[in-house]
Amino acid sequence: MFSRIPFEKVNWLISSFLIGTLFLSLTAVPAYIWFFGIDWFQIGLFFAMFFAIGFSVTLGYHRLFSHLAFQAHWTVRLLTLILGAAAFENSVLLWACEHRNHHKHVDHADDPYCIAEGLFHAHIGWLLFKLDPLPPFDNVADLQKDPLVMWQHRHIHWIAALVAFVFPTIFGFAWGGWSSALGAFLIAGVARIVILQHCTFCINSLCHYVGDRPYSSKCSARDWWLMAIVTLGEGYHNYHHEFQHDYRNGVKPWQIDPTKWLIWTLSKLGLARKLRRVPAEKIILTELAEAQRQLEAYLAHAGLTEAASGCLAATHLRLQAIAQQWTLRQSQKLEVTSEMLATLRSEVRMVTRTLRRLGVCDLQAA
Ligand SMILES: [Zn+2]
Ligand SMILES: [Zn+2]
Repeated sequence: MFSRIPFEKVNWLISSFLIGTLFLSLTAVPAYIWFFGIDWFQIGLFFAMFFAIGFSVTLGYHRLFSHLAFQAHWTVRLLTLILGAAAFENSVLLWACEHRNHHKHVDHADDPYCIAEGLFHAHIGWLLFKLDPLPPFDNVADLQKDPLVMWQHRHIHWIAALVAFVFPTIFGFAWGGWSSALGAFLIAGVARIVILQHCTFCINSLCHYVGDRPYSSKCSARDWWLMAIVTLGEGYHNYHHEFQHDYRNGVKPWQIDPTKWLIWTLSKLGLARKLRRVPAEKIILTELAEAQRQLEAYLAHAGLTEAASGCLAATHLRLQAIAQQWTLRQSQKLEVTSEMLATLRSEVRMVTRTLRRLGVCDLQAA
């Protein structure tokens, strides 16, 4: 098995950190809990750091700095830069550069975590075997003008170590002496890093592998509510790839997107502004076009029963008529009421349900 690993391509620094922290989480953390037990302080510190640092990545690294989905007060930017560093996912400058490349080249060779190279590569392999960790930074000129971003980039390793390891250790010592300090280092420090990193990695792997594609089957990104819980709202990845500048990933009222809720709350407190939203009409028409594409692809398939084929053909005709009506409405710039949007929404939902019942909702459009 080991003879098949391309050792000459291994990035030993990144690999040692990722494997070392995972090893400590699986050995030293259970050993600590066995010998010293675990109290509410340790659990509370773990979750406080998990959410503070997790939101700094999703709200700060991803939606604010990589996609410019909203503007934030300098205190929010500074806080997400300091706390986000403790995720040990490198600086915002590097993260955003790779992430913008991911969106631009998704599923192709220049996508740094391309799912076409396999689930393992997209999850963690791209980091273990990343020999050239510094890209040319040619797509982050806007961030290079930001003195806070550049300050974080220059001191990323010191900030990361201080926030991720030194802070919980000192806090733990103040709470309950050396044993508590060791527990905080291992649980809120090491184990928290491993869990949070794998939550982020899931966006690059499982969010391109399992789930629905209601907005576009042209790329591998998928929507899955379970991933949205694991990733603080980033699991509606099909929507995100279609509309990457929207500050929302879970755009439907019932979808779980805590990062969106936090950005909205910050805007109400005057700490965020210019939240970018794709108009509701454009979103529903995108879903309509995708439903049509999936229907057409399925109708072109051989082996349909007569009943299924008739049902799909009738649905396709109805959708075509609706699409034509909307094209006409748009060309004549007619007013669109919320009732009209609600009717369109329910039509699209009905088609999605029909496709799902027939087991074809994730059919690859040719
Ligand atoms: Zn993606
Ligand atoms: Zn993104």
